[in-house]
Amino acid sequence: MSAEFLPFARPLIGAETRRAVDEVLSSGWITSGPQVEAFESELSAYLGGRPLLSYSHATGLIEEALRALEIGPGDEVIVPDMTFAAGVNVVLRVGATPVPVDVDLRSRNLDAATVERAITRRTRAVMPVHFAGLPVALDPLHELCKARGLRVIEDAAHAIGSRYRGRLIGSFGDVACFSFHANKNLTTIEGGAVATADEALLEALRLRRFHGQEKLAGGSYDIVLPANKFNLTDVAARIGRDQLASLDERNSRRRQLAWGYFEAFGDPEHIVLPARGDEGHAWHMFAVCIDFEHFGTDRKTFREAMHERGIGVGVHYPPLHLLTVCREFNLLDGDFPNATRIGNETVTLPLFPEMRDTDVERVAAALREVLHA
Ligand SMILES: *Cc1c(COP(=O)(O)O)cnc(C)c1O
Repeated sequence: MSAEFLPFARPLIGAETRRAVDEVLSSGWITSGPQVEAFESELSAYLGGRPLLSYSHATGLIEEALRALEIGPGDEVIVPDMTFAAGVNVVLRVGATPVPVDVDLRSRNLDAATVERAITRRTRAVMPVHFAGLPVALDPLHELCKARGLRVIEDAAHAIGSRYRGRLIGSFGDVACFSFHANKNLTTIEGGAVATADEALLEALRLRRFHGQEKLAGGSYDIVLPANKFNLTDVAARIGRDQLASLDERNSRRRQLAWGYFEAFGDPEHIVLPARGDEGHAWHMFAVCIDFEHFGTDRKTFREAMHERGIGVGVHYPPLHLLTVCREFNLLDGDFPNATRIGNETVTLPLFPEMRDTDVERVAAALREVLHA
């Protein structure tokens, strides 16, 4: 057994990428420039030629997308209760009302039927999250939203390289937003990108990416909108280009490791394994729900015991309805039974492409040992 510490996620920036970054750093142009252009065109090609724009992070991108779609005060946006906090903050920041809905216990995704029950006269958009890289059932959701005149803004932060019915997430549908944060399947350290066929939205997001600036002939410019600044740097984009080149390979390795976990765990009692999905699952993370009470322990003790055995364990995520920023909406646990349970019981186990098969066995063995101690 290896004594080295195994974190739940670990980005790998290889020697070749570091050399390429060094070239960018020495080139005399280090912020948005040719590397960003190349990264955007390569990513767009990967997504079947969809028009695409990079941003400095997905949170800013989704917020600006909501603004560009004129979603604000008086409007409601339906979000899964089980997601990262950005999913609610962006809605609050534009002055709209977040409407969380419950998710499935195993897939951790929302579905069209649950969304339909949450639609009101004020609903403007739905923001599905492809949890851990497992695609939401998009066909019924798109059909529903089209019939009801709602925008579908996919939070695809976990889903770069994921496929729904064989089609890459971001290559079809309304709007898809990716994150390239350090722990995501493709990283630029911090970064994001939007893919959409809505050219007007894309142009609005381009304007909002850089001060609301329109270039004028002769090197001058005008500012047509008091916008913020969200451009990606060439250094980040150069990392992203290499990450994209190896994305499918690394996602396959993630899938192999996740399937290794299924094999190692079998059919455990009092532990809920994640939905297995198919070849289109990008396995951003492997999270299980543990009935800690049954095992006579709690999550804090469990995490400490795993840590003592050299294994990092994450918590993704506390449900939105319990966050202080949602207190004003008086949301009740009883309306989100699955998200509440996931919030209490979830632990994210190590999963990143450089892990060895034996690491998976080591994690599963340590988990059993800790729970049955
Ligand atoms: C990472 C993440 C985000 C935010 O992405 P950033 O690029 O860090 O702003 C949003 N939603 C989900 C589900 C995420 O995991």
